[in-house]
Amino acid sequence: YIFGKKKATEVAHSVWRHIVQNGDILVDATCGNGYDTLAMVKMVADKPSTGRVYAMDIQKAALESTSYLLDESLDSDELVFGCPKDAKYMIVMRICMPNLSGITSHSGGKGLVELFAICHSRMEEVVPKGIPVRLVAFNLGYLPGGDKATITKSETTLQALEAAKRMLAPGGLISLVVYVGHPGGREEYEAVQAFASGLPVENWICCKLQMLNRSSAPILVLLLNR
Ligand code: SAM
Repeated sequence: YIFGKKKATEVAHSVWRHIVQNGDILVDATCGNGYDTLAMVKMVADKPSTGRVYAMDIQKAALESTSYLLDESLDSDELVFGCPKDAKYMIVMRICMPNLSGITSHSGGKGLVELFAICHSRMEEVVPKGIPVRLVAFNLGYLPGGDKATITKSETTLQALEAAKRMLAPGGLISLVVYVGHPGGREEYEAVQAFASGLPVENWICCKLQMLNRSSAPILVLLLNR
C-alpha cells in the first residue's frame, strides 16, 4: 500500500476491514461526502447481525451528500432501503435532523446507519451508552467541493478523541486521516500527534503512515486499543 497508488482513505478502509467484526458498532465522526460511511455500512452489512454505523457532521451539505451517496449506492438486491421480504439485509437510515428537510428518510426495520447533525465532540450523546464501539473514524479538514471555512479544529478534534477513547471497545481502533496542506492543518496534526504520543503504551498501539517524499500528503494515524 505504501508504494502503491492507494489513497490514505483507501488504506484506512483496508485496515478497518481487519478490525470490524460481527455485530460491531462503528462511528464516522466526519461523514462529509459519505465515502467512509458507505465503506463502514458495507462492512457492517456484510455481517448480518446487530451492527450499526453512527455518522455525524456539522454541516447540512455534508449530511445531504452522505444521504444521497448511501441512497444511490446501496439500492441493490442485497443492500436495500425499504423492506422487501426477501432482502438479505435491510438498510434503514434514520436521519436525526429535525430542522433539515430535503433528505430522504427511511424508517422501520433493522437500522444499519444513522446520521446526526452534531459536532463530533458530542458523539457520546448519540451513540447508545454501554455499547462497545469497534471503530471511530475521523477524516479531518474541510468538505471536498464544499465550504472550506467549515473545518475541523484542534480543540473539538481533541475533545472528540477523548470521547472516542471512552467509548472504544478493547481491540477497537481510532483511525484518523489528517491533512496538513491547508491553513491550520499542520497544527491540528501536531495536536493529534501529541494526543497519540501521550497514550499509555500498555493499553495502546499508536502508529502513523506518512509519505516522506510528499510533505503535504495526508497522514494516516491509527490508535489501536489493546
Ligand atoms: N469522511 C468524509 C468522506 O468520506 O467523504 C470526508 C470528511 S471531510 C474531509 C471533513 C468533514 O468534517 C467536513 O464535512 C466537515 O463539515 C466536517 N467537520 C468539521 N468540523 C466538524 C466537527 N466539529 N464535527 C463533525 N464534523 C465536522
